[in-house]
Amino acid sequence: MTKQIIFSISLIITLAVFFWTIKRIWSYMKLTKPYPIGDYGKRFKIMMEVAIGQTKILRFPFVGWLHALVFWGFIVIFIGSIEMVIDGLFRTERVFSFMGVFYDIITASGDVFAFIIVIAILIFIIRRLFINVKRFSGIEMEHKSHMDANIALTLILLLMLSLLGMNTFYYILDPDSPVGYYPVSMFIVRNFIPLHSLDFQSVHTQHEIYWWSHILLIFIFANILPYSKHFHVFMSVPNVFFSRLEPLGYLDNMPEITKEVKLMMDPNAAFAEPAAGEEEVSRFGVKDVENITWKNYMDSLTCTECGRCTSVCPANITGKKLSPRKIVMNVRARMKEKGPGLVKVGKEYDDQKALINDYITPEELWACTTCNACAQECPVNINQPSLIVDLRRYLVLEESAAPGELNATFTNIENNGAPWQFSMEDRMLWAEGLEVPLMADKLAKGENPEYLFWVGSAGAFDDRYKKVTREFVKTLNHLNVDYAVLGTEETDSGDVARRAGNEMLFQMQAMMNIEVMNAYEVKKIITCCPHDYNTLLNEYPEYGGEYEVVHHSQFLQKLISKGKINIQDGPFKDQKITFHDPCYLGRANGEYEAPRNVLKAIPSEKVEMKRNKSFALCCGAGGGQMFKEAEKGDKEVFIERTEEAIETGADIICTACPFCMVMMTDGIKYKNKEEEMKNYDIAELVSVSMGL
Ligand code: SF4
Ligand code: SF4
Repeated sequence: MTKQIIFSISLIITLAVFFWTIKRIWSYMKLTKPYPIGDYGKRFKIMMEVAIGQTKILRFPFVGWLHALVFWGFIVIFIGSIEMVIDGLFRTERVFSFMGVFYDIITASGDVFAFIIVIAILIFIIRRLFINVKRFSGIEMEHKSHMDANIALTLILLLMLSLLGMNTFYYILDPDSPVGYYPVSMFIVRNFIPLHSLDFQSVHTQHEIYWWSHILLIFIFANILPYSKHFHVFMSVPNVFFSRLEPLGYLDNMPEITKEVKLMMDPNAAFAEPAAGEEEVSRFGVKDVENITWKNYMDSLTCTECGRCTSVCPANITGKKLSPRKIVMNVRARMKEKGPGLVKVGKEYDDQKALINDYITPEELWACTTCNACAQECPVNINQPSLIVDLRRYLVLEESAAPGELNATFTNIENNGAPWQFSMEDRMLWAEGLEVPLMADKLAKGENPEYLFWVGSAGAFDDRYKKVTREFVKTLNHLNVDYAVLGTEETDSGDVARRAGNEMLFQMQAMMNIEVMNAYEVKKIITCCPHDYNTLLNEYPEYGGEYEVVHHSQFLQKLISKGKINIQDGPFKDQKITFHDPCYLGRANGEYEAPRNVLKAIPSEKVEMKRNKSFALCCGAGGGQMFKEAEKGDKEVFIERTEEAIETGADIICTACPFCMVMMTDGIKYKNKEEEMKNYDIAELVSVSMGL
């Protein structure tokens, strides 16, 4: 009875403290903005794959398997903990034992997993204390973060040792007919414990000590977790369940901007009645924690501080200040600082600080290439780039504080329909001497071509990429593809503007393009630019532009598989080719095979770079970087990537993106490798191989 009373009091204290903590966190959640949920079937699938199946952790096999085993072990052991709570409350003994064989399986798994977890945690502790793992360091990793990790690991170790101790002495109590099955404990007893020297009472006492140690450690652990990075033990499954469902390349719409842009394009809309529930918008983008969504805050609570994101960040790798882990940790720290005041005083509370500037500097934000390597790697599906862009949105839309070069780029897009100072009228100069059908001419003849070939700003104006556009058009003409281009009616897609935070400009560009394309009843689009591919495919539908969009590598792959392109020979057969994955085709949209299949059809030797496919390093141009000076660091991203390509001994870097082409070409020049190494777009390799 005494045991029951003490247990009940301990449990009540544990639950009271735990719920007090959750209530506090909930009060902070309520300060944040809404986040769309729904599509629960898809969410459940992602949760099973990423959280329960640990698929992202397993991308790095050794540590991945250790962590996955710890996670799966926790799930099994949790069932045993529930049994202990029921036994403690109701003075029962092994209450789940009525399950028979199933109970044997649960107890045996718990026993084995406890042993595996002990080994894994010892390895984790040794790695943390004695091996210099780069991703465990960084400016955001203060002494407290390391202490926090070490305390949690020690607690887990003690939890597992107490569980093994409890099982061992439980088995000794009745070795002939124990309830449940305990293979590791049985092994310990049979090999290391002299049973004849033990009396029943001392064994019983030892079992009780381990039983109490284990359950009290669980109670302490449950209440320490919410204050440490190990809160992910609770949070990772729900956080993954609520992860974004869109492709990584997609950025959230800002409906408040859509309203403004529609007003600009149609002043009559100003007199329309506001929609029900429509609120006045107090802030564009994110300045401080009250501007984030509850999912952003949940992400910050879930972050395991593992540093996988930072370890793959091209900006961080090349010595810039940006660390995606720091951005996420800063959200948590800032909410801890400002949350109590906001709860007490209300939204008007102002402590004269903000997430931007006081925690995250513009220098960090402008270093991001939006390559999505961080989001790809995060084991709990945190999407760091979308938060970075939200912070940029505040800087651009409210403070007009974009770097000078980006402001010039915005002005060019606004005035010339391209990021450079070219006249809109010159948008077709690339096609001189070629037969390139225009949509307007087709319409005049009463024809509606199957494809719109979206040339894109770089395809129309960048000197090097104009050559790629021409080669691709030669292939289209040679194969009698039914296509046309918009010519001077095309304007910049707005991709750069959106990723650089200028949502207003992006939406204006998008709506102008959609108006033109819808007037031509465009259904299918081909483009050579992965950035425009991503924007047209994933982002235009929100504004009424629903098209079937294909990247030129996908289009060429289709022609090859249909036998319309058949290359038997060609100038590349003695050449070694390495393919650089464009972030906006690969990670952003999951297309890794199409360009490789096209390359397979070109007689030549292929070689992969060390980091390829979803692990590929960015070229450094995305997210507006191509139009501005890089932030201070040890090295430029394009040099790091070019060095990786050079390491392969390839003769050709094959790219499939205008931005990558600029960067790789610059990299080859910088490394003085112009004699030994060339950079071609995949479209050029195909057309040249066909002798066009
Ligand atoms: S998107 Fe790329 S550059 Fe930006 S923080 Fe993530 S990894 Fe770094
Ligand atoms: S954001 Fe994700 S990848 Fe980065 S440290 Fe946190 S949990 Fe790890």
